[in-house]
Amino acid sequence: MRIVFMGAPGSGKGTQAQRLVQHFGIPQISTGDILRKHLAEGTPLGLRAKEIMASGAYVDDETMLAIIRDRLAQPDASKGFILDGFPRTVAQAQGLSKLLVDLATPLDVVVSFEANNDEIIKRLSGRRVCEYCKKVFNVHTAPPSVPPECVDGRGEHQVVQRDDDQEATVRERLRVYEEKTRKPLASFYSYTGLVRTVDADGDIDEVTRRLLATLQAGGASKPAKAAKSKRRAARPAKRKPAARRRAKPAKTKAKAKAKPKSKAKRRVVKRVKRLAARKSRPARRKTSKRR
Ligand code: AMP
Repeated sequence: MRIVFMGAPGSGKGTQAQRLVQHFGIPQISTGDILRKHLAEGTPLGLRAKEIMASGAYVDDETMLAIIRDRLAQPDASKGFILDGFPRTVAQAQGLSKLLVDLATPLDVVVSFEANNDEIIKRLSGRRVCEYCKKVFNVHTAPPSVPPECVDGRGEHQVVQRDDDQEATVRERLRVYEEKTRKPLASFYSYTGLVRTVDADGDIDEVTRRLLATLQAGGASKPAKAAKSKRRAARPAKRKPAARRRAKPAKTKAKAKAKPKSKAKRRVVKRVKRLAARKSRPARRKTSKRR
C-alpha cells in the first residue's frame, strides 16, 4: 500500500504512521526525521537545513525531492510506504507523481488529518524529547516518568524542547502549512479521488480506529479506478474525421491554383480576357460614310 499522510504539524500523523507500520508492514518515511538525522550528524544538508527548520520555513523542493528519490529506491519501500510530511508543496507533489509514474507504482490513498489549531499549539509547545533515548513526553498529557528512567541506562531523562516546538515557531509552521500545503495540495489531489479525511482530534487510539476504518471503507483500489476514468474524461477529444474531410478540398483548390497552365488553356484564358475587355469598352458611335 502506498500512502501519503497530509496534516498540520502536530496533527498526530507521525504517531499514526508508526502504528500503520506495524499494521501493514511497510516503512514510514518522515522527511522531518530524515532532515533531523542529517542535522544530528552535522552533514552539509543538515547544516543548511538547521536555520530553515528552526524558523518553521520549508527546505527547498529540489533537496526534498532528491531525498525522496533516494529513499524510495531502497528495497524496503518496494512493498509500499507511508509518506509522512511529504509532499508539502505542489512542486513536490508534481515531482512525486512523476517519480511514481517512472516506478509504475501509483499512490493508493492520500489521508488528510484534520485537527484543531488550538489543540495543536498546546500539544506541540508542550512536547519534550529525551536527548538520550529520544522518548517523547508532553508536559500536559505525558510528563517524563517518575521515578525518571532512561532506557539508555543513564538514569534520568534529559528532556529538551525542539527549537521548532517553541510556541511562536509552531504558529509560523501552522501558517506556512495552511498557505503552502493544505490549500494547494487539497486542490492538487482533489481530481485524483484518492483523498480520505480523518478527524485527528481526541484520543490517539480512537484516531487509529477512525484511520483504519477510513482506509478499509475506502477500498484503496476504488479511488485509483475513479482517478483513471476522471483522467480519461479530462483528455482532449480526438479530432473527428469530418474535420479532416472539410480541410482537404481547400488544400486541393490551393494546389490547383498553383499548377502551371497548359499552352491551350493559356490561349483560352487570353481570348476570354480580350473579349471581356472589349465588352467593357464604351460602344463606338456609328459614323455614316461620306459620300
Ligand atoms: P516535520 O517533523 O515533518 O514537522 O518537519 C520538520 C521541519 O522539517 C519542517 O518544519 C520543515 O522545515 C522541514 N521539512 C520536513 N519535510 C519537509 C518537506 N517535505 N518540505 C520542506 N521542508 C520540510
